[in-house]
Amino acid sequence: MIEKEEIESLVEEYDLEKVSIGTLGSHSALNIFKGAKEEGFRTVCVCTQNREIVYRKFQLVDEFIFVERFSDLLNGEIQERLRELNTILVPHGSFNAYIGMEGMLNDLYVPMFGNRRLLKWEINRDKQREWLRKAGLRLPKTYESPNDIDKLVIVKFPGARGGKGYFLADSPETFRRKAEDMIKRGHLKREELSNVQLQEYILGVTAYFQYFRSIIKEDVELLGMDRRYESTVDGLGRIPAKDQLQVDLNPTYTVVGNIPLTLRESLLPEVLSMGDRVAEVSEEIAPPGIIGPFCLETIITDTGEIYAFEISARIVAGSNVGIGTSPYAYLKYGAGMYMGRRIAREIKEGIRRGVLKKILY
Ligand code: AMP
Ligand code: AMP
Repeated sequence: MIEKEEIESLVEEYDLEKVSIGTLGSHSALNIFKGAKEEGFRTVCVCTQNREIVYRKFQLVDEFIFVERFSDLLNGEIQERLRELNTILVPHGSFNAYIGMEGMLNDLYVPMFGNRRLLKWEINRDKQREWLRKAGLRLPKTYESPNDIDKLVIVKFPGARGGKGYFLADSPETFRRKAEDMIKRGHLKREELSNVQLQEYILGVTAYFQYFRSIIKEDVELLGMDRRYESTVDGLGRIPAKDQLQVDLNPTYTVVGNIPLTLRESLLPEVLSMGDRVAEVSEEIAPPGIIGPFCLETIITDTGEIYAFEISARIVAGSNVGIGTSPYAYLKYGAGMYMGRRIAREIKEGIRRGVLKKILY
């Protein structure tokens, strides 16, 4: 495992007048690059050819490093080039999806904004629950075995896959039948079946809260929120119920985008306090705790109960809805603040106060 001191000595070599902010070209990279540019940084995009068009069209990238696949980020020469450019990497969902925890913990010798130690907690669903429970959040019940299913559950698979392959079951029999169907349709692999998490299905609406924890300012800020736009579940309402029954639809939860949200104000006390408590516990489990963005993924019932079903300890793609327009960021910072920019602002502040090493891992 890469030690914090090793990252610190890399930062010591950096020319702090010429820091670049870098990330993989996908997920929330536009958000991150725009924020970096607005705060006066240079930007580096580790990119695959097929995605280059995105970053060319929006003209937010100063330096491209082309790779065949994202996992090539772990190659020595690529990392060396990044260090030459004094790059601070901002991790997002594609780091988890394409590089993985082991790679990030053991092989990525480039300073990252955020706390790598929390990855262990983020990636494992049981550890996540322990963290959230310690913070006093309300969680959906989970089931140990498909044989225990006695009410509607949502069946989830490991890793950040944006809901792909999830399905619903209300008995051991429907579980088995639908699992077969999902395997047949290529949504999941048979060997993944033993790794499922069975969660009580909470009837309500989803709400994703985007927070930013600053260890420099010792504060947790609520900067935005969204709901997801998921295929096929969000399309079901467009089909009349009798036709749904006729074709025996089995919805999936593959995310294709995000929709902005503002919340009934009376729910905000709980949402704000949840963010504070989660950050507090993070400090205990992996000091100094969360650095920068994190997101609580919740379902809110018609009685105003907020169930948290997941945490992401990094920038989430849902924060893309806030680029330039988030009401909550506006309330705190005025116009033009959003997650990518908040990250860059923190890095800038770290440099200015001479505490950059504290926020890089
Ligand atoms: P992609 O580059 O689109 O393949 O996404 C990389 C990873 O981030 C995948 O695990 C996706 O499921 C996840 N992801 C991408 N976009 C979103 C989004 N808007 N909401 C949630 N997860 C996402
Ligand atoms: P996730 O990949 O965990 O973020 O979940 C993807 C989607 O599954 C969410 O946006 C929800 O639509 C749905 N979902 C996840 N967990 C639950 C739950 N416990 N009850 C109801 N719906 C859920």
